[in-house]
Amino acid sequence: MFKLIHALRSPGLLPDEFAPLQLGQRVATSGRLGLRLVHRAQLDPQAIEGLAGAAHHFYDLNGATRLRDALRAFRGGKVVLGISRLPFKCPAAPYEMALLIDAAFRERGIRDDVEMECFTPEPWPAPAAGEGIGRAVQGMLEGRGIPVHTKWEVDHVDPAGRIVHFRGGSQLPYDLLVAVPPHTTCPPVRASGLAKDGPWVPVDRYTMRTSFDDVYAVGDVAKIPTPSGNVPVLPKAGVFAEGQARVAARNIAAGIAGGEGARWDGHGVCFLETGSGRSGLVQGNFFKEGPPEIRMRNPSRIWHWGKVLFERRWLGKLFRR
Ligand SMILES: Cc1cc2nc3c(=O)[nH]c(=O)nc-3n(C[C@H](O)[C@H](O)[C@H](O)COP(=O)(O)OP(=O)(O)OC[C@H]3O[C@@H](n4cnc5c(N)ncnc54)[C@H](O)[C@@H]3O)c2cc1C
Repeated sequence: MFKLIHALRSPGLLPDEFAPLQLGQRVATSGRLGLRLVHRAQLDPQAIEGLAGAAHHFYDLNGATRLRDALRAFRGGKVVLGISRLPFKCPAAPYEMALLIDAAFRERGIRDDVEMECFTPEPWPAPAAGEGIGRAVQGMLEGRGIPVHTKWEVDHVDPAGRIVHFRGGSQLPYDLLVAVPPHTTCPPVRASGLAKDGPWVPVDRYTMRTSFDDVYAVGDVAKIPTPSGNVPVLPKAGVFAEGQARVAARNIAAGIAGGEGARWDGHGVCFLETGSGRSGLVQGNFFKEGPPEIRMRNPSRIWHWGKVLFERRWLGKLFRR
């Protein structure tokens, strides 16, 4: 099942209504040809033994609500927070969450009663932004008393003993475990022939074309090689999905009406909430070859308000529908 995305709803070009579609189908709507894009990543906590029953997460509304309640009830002990598998959505989100939890415990006056540790299979946090930025984020966490164990990949979780076991034999005991679950795609995408070498759909990084004629993939489902050398594949983020969707829409329109298509430039902006009303900003070109052209602005109230306005723009779009 596939879905026309909102970026294709340019007036007069494609219909307003979304329709579930089958790959290979060509659908004429309002006298015009509908083309389709494949949809999103799914969470797959069952992929790791013991994880689903043991770990909280904040990657959907139910998970985030349950985590909020668990944190409110938490009075002290050890919080272990990390990334279970790569790739996952939003490279900054787990680190932001650790900083926000730290800030919330400080506001409640219980931080001295809480031990916090982070783990990740990455070589350093948010590796796509380059080692300099990653180590700076790691420094922020460690400066707040949160050690970060890099290149630690979860093997399994023992819910009864409250221990996370990592490949290679390391272990972390916990009182509250927060883990980004493994991500995958839905069965129709995996069965479609679009996905290669795993559940994700490889696309041309400039045009968003898949290996099938007239089929484009954007956003989390897409697997986009990067030339930067920081990471082989672009991380999954909404800001990238938006840029990719505009390009795919232009290319689809050009395929229907003629004219020039478009190429995506790999540009992205990401806020990094650090707590207490402050945010950093990471911005740059993720397709640049050689040394990264990505910079991080230090956490400040300005970037926090930038994030608030950015979110309002998106929520405004959703509620205007
Ligand atoms: C906690 C968290 C924080 C994040 N923070 C940021 C951030 O600060 N900045 C950033 O850039 N990104 C952030 N992201 C990542 C961002 O949310 C995703 O990368 C982005 O939403 C991907 O867009 P998408 O269109 O690929 O998928 P989605 O936004 O998941 O959209 C997929 C759509 O497909 C629909 N759908 C699913 N199945 C079907 C079906 N069978 N038929 C029809 N429709 C279907 C869904 O309802 C949904 O509307 C964050 C993610 C999380 C979880």
